[in-house]
Amino acid sequence: MSDTKLVNRLTICLGVEGTAHTIGVGIVSGSKILANVSRTYVPTKGGIHPREAARFHADKLKIVLEEALQKSNINLKQIDVIAFSIGPGLGPCLRTVATAARALAMRLEVPILGVNHCVGHVEIGRLTTGAQDPLTLYVSGGNTQVIAFESGRYRIFGETLDIAVGNCLDRFAREVGLPHPGGPQIEKLAAQANEYISLPYSVKGMDLAFSGLLTAASKEYYKTKKLPEICYSLQETAFAMLTEVTERALAHTGKSEVLLTGGVAANKRLQGMLRLMSEEHNANFLVVPFEYAMDNGTMISWLGLLMLQHGVRHTIEETAVRQRFRTDEVDVVWR
Ligand code: AMP
Ligand code: MG
Repeated sequence: MSDTKLVNRLTICLGVEGTAHTIGVGIVSGSKILANVSRTYVPTKGGIHPREAARFHADKLKIVLEEALQKSNINLKQIDVIAFSIGPGLGPCLRTVATAARALAMRLEVPILGVNHCVGHVEIGRLTTGAQDPLTLYVSGGNTQVIAFESGRYRIFGETLDIAVGNCLDRFAREVGLPHPGGPQIEKLAAQANEYISLPYSVKGMDLAFSGLLTAASKEYYKTKKLPEICYSLQETAFAMLTEVTERALAHTGKSEVLLTGGVAANKRLQGMLRLMSEEHNANFLVVPFEYAMDNGTMISWLGLLMLQHGVRHTIEETAVRQRFRTDEVDVVWR
């Protein structure tokens, strides 16, 4: 198909996400979301095992793809372009998804685009909330970043220096015997607490660290067994750190919107802290709907479509996965 034809009609893009525990397929046509289907791998014990997760993705992709096509009421032949998350993420997962995306694109004889997972979170956030130019706090099981658009790129104004905040919550939960994912369990228990226990607050310049907090919270649990209180204190400390860095980035960039995304965005206490801070700065606070805040295929298809419509093309050689692909390495030609 010629390039003009590709961008002159209601192009349909199918996107595949699979950077970590979620395998997802999203289909968009223009700015309309036609389908968003996913399955999430839950480790039987311990954290995510990259090869096990990759096997899960390979197993589930067919059913996820079929469901997405069915929901959107289209067939494979109507797809104009394939997008997939090229990174950052776990090597085996990325390679599994990239291989599937290449096979699909070649079979359908359509272009393929490898897209940055974190930028996908920001763009689906803008689409689903109507935010124009937000300062974004992206908090998930694998990432913690404060992102804003400046001079042609999404710049990282602050990020974790060790583990992601979602990972901190999940690992604490595992340590104390709560089921996975830990975030929602900790939120529930925190509501029953009636005491704050001091935990290490770790903001370094504009960056954050969570592993010391995780260790201290775990030690406190073995010492006192005050689970609700420690859950509460863990949340208060981690979320205050996130709010501080977001506030400073907001003051620095002068943006008038704050966008919260990633799986941890579901947390009502985090939402509350950020809303209050945003109001104090006369900024609009927006939260991405949960379905699109967690890892999902739709953000990949939407970003792929934006890139395609602005002239980005990838050769098959350029679809090699990028495990450490940074948010600020992407030329944001669509803005
Ligand atoms: P993601 O990596 O974006 O798919 O999101 C998964 C992460 O979100 C996991 O670390 C979960 O523990 C976390 N999460 C989900 N719901 C909540 C919640 N209500 N509070 C805190 N964290 C949450
Ligand atoms: Mg993510």
